Amino acid sequence: MESVLKKYFGYSTFRPYQKEIVEQILDGRDCLVVMATGSGKSLCYQVPPLVAKKTAIVISPLISLMQDQVMALKQRGIRVDYLSSAQTDSSVSQKAERGEYDILYMTPEKACVLPPSFWSRLLIAGICLLAVDEAHCISEWGHDFRVEYKRLDKLRNILSNVPFVGLTATATEKVRNDIINSLKLKDTYVAVGSFDRQNLFYGVKSFNRGSSFFDKLIQEISKYVENSCSTIIYCTTINDVEQISKSLHQAGIRAGMYHGQMANKAREESHRSFIRDEFLVMVATVAFGMGIDKPNIRYVIHYGCPKSLESYYQESGRCGRDGIASVCWLYYSRSDFAKADYYCGEAHSADQRRAIMESFICAQHYCMLTSCRRSYLLNYFGENNADRCGNCDNCTSERKENDMSRESFLLMGCIQACGGHYGLNLPIDTLRGSRSKKILDAMLDKLPFHGLGKNLSANWWKALAHQLISRDYLVETVRDMYKTVSVSSKGQNFLSSCTPDHQPPLYLVVTS
Ligand code: ADP
Ligand code: ZN
Repeated sequence: MESVLKKYFGYSTFRPYQKEIVEQILDGRDCLVVMATGSGKSLCYQVPPLVAKKTAIVISPLISLMQDQVMALKQRGIRVDYLSSAQTDSSVSQKAERGEYDILYMTPEKACVLPPSFWSRLLIAGICLLAVDEAHCISEWGHDFRVEYKRLDKLRNILSNVPFVGLTATATEKVRNDIINSLKLKDTYVAVGSFDRQNLFYGVKSFNRGSSFFDKLIQEISKYVENSCSTIIYCTTINDVEQISKSLHQAGIRAGMYHGQMANKAREESHRSFIRDEFLVMVATVAFGMGIDKPNIRYVIHYGCPKSLESYYQESGRCGRDGIASVCWLYYSRSDFAKADYYCGEAHSADQRRAIMESFICAQHYCMLTSCRRSYLLNYFGENNADRCGNCDNCTSERKENDMSRESFLLMGCIQACGGHYGLNLPIDTLRGSRSKKILDAMLDKLPFHGLGKNLSANWWKALAHQLISRDYLVETVRDMYKTVSVSSKGQNFLSSCTPDHQPPLYLVVTS
């Protein structure tokens, strides 16, 4: 195994889990590999065929991605090619049947229509594994469900003794179980790698849409371009993609575009030009997803709050794949938080809608966080780690906490007095002394809190509310399509030790 690693790939040591996985595959065992983007999953299915001298079948969702991998592997002297439904020539499948490939890539559509005779000839020639890359596409709970993936279970019956290997960077338990069930994996060896990408710096800033923000952003990006480093800018809408591209072009920076409304061909062209460094900046929606194995991406920007931390982690994880220090900045504006409806449009059921809302709320919390970002992300993926990483904006900045006890008392008290079944707007308007019809109708102007917080802006109160949410003094709940905010038991404890004239200290960082 080590000599294959050295001879074909030029590496002297395996990364964590790679060796165990290769050994398990060579032993004929089904595997599920859940490892962060950039951790080296491909090697897990590329090494076994070279050791066993049998063919590896790899199912991969994108042709452009397969073409790039095939090209790179050929350069290493590996016998490799791919099959897709677009091909009419049968020379690749004939060579495959004669066992002339180490690795044969194919799209899921193609895998499902190849005749049984193809598989039986290949079995005689020798298959050492069938890998399903981006295996989360099999799950409706994943963020990128693809119908063709669901049909791959057919292959399990044909290739009953071949080890199947599912690979994904999506960590949730549900998706993992879906992969195991859909691919009918048996006695599966599950390898879950650490999700910690220590070379990535995480930072978040709030911004206001406008030209001064663009100017700053473009200055930042030019620094990376001057150093021949690539940048991806993820936008939440196609409109933003177009607007940012335009600003970049006006500033003389060559940038590519990628979004779902572009024709397939234009998208693939754009992807390939980026991989080949024909331009260094890619402005894209999350449609720019899989197979971005580009080592010199140093900067990933999210322009707008992402829809979930799963997608944020995967998208931001596309930088620094070579292990060199790289930077992920997320810019959000508070108006992004009203986008839940937009994301819920994708939902097929009430359950799914709730799941989308909850994921989005977690992403919002990440934006508002004043503690270590890495620690929060890793906790979210079920991994425990140090409280402070030293490599995120919150660990490196010198923002001071202030005693917000009186303000917290007012806000929590008012939320409680309003009944705890509204969102944030109504209690904050009450605190700020509004006499809107809604407030008068609900007689909230009669509350003792009415008007006590008018010296601070509504945005400031919202920022405080988000701090209190992230410290568990307030809880957000999703009811139907609406978020309601109420006081948690921790918040109740705080309130019960308060009087209007005296509150125990409560230190928070509120920036707005
Ligand atoms: P993933 O599929 O998990 O996102 P890749 O398989 O594309 O990640 O690997 C990411 C990068 O790490 C690639 O450039 C790859 O060549 C490199 N890599 C993989 N395994 C090793 C290793 N054992 N030693 C050094 N580099 C490695
Ligand atoms: Zn940190």
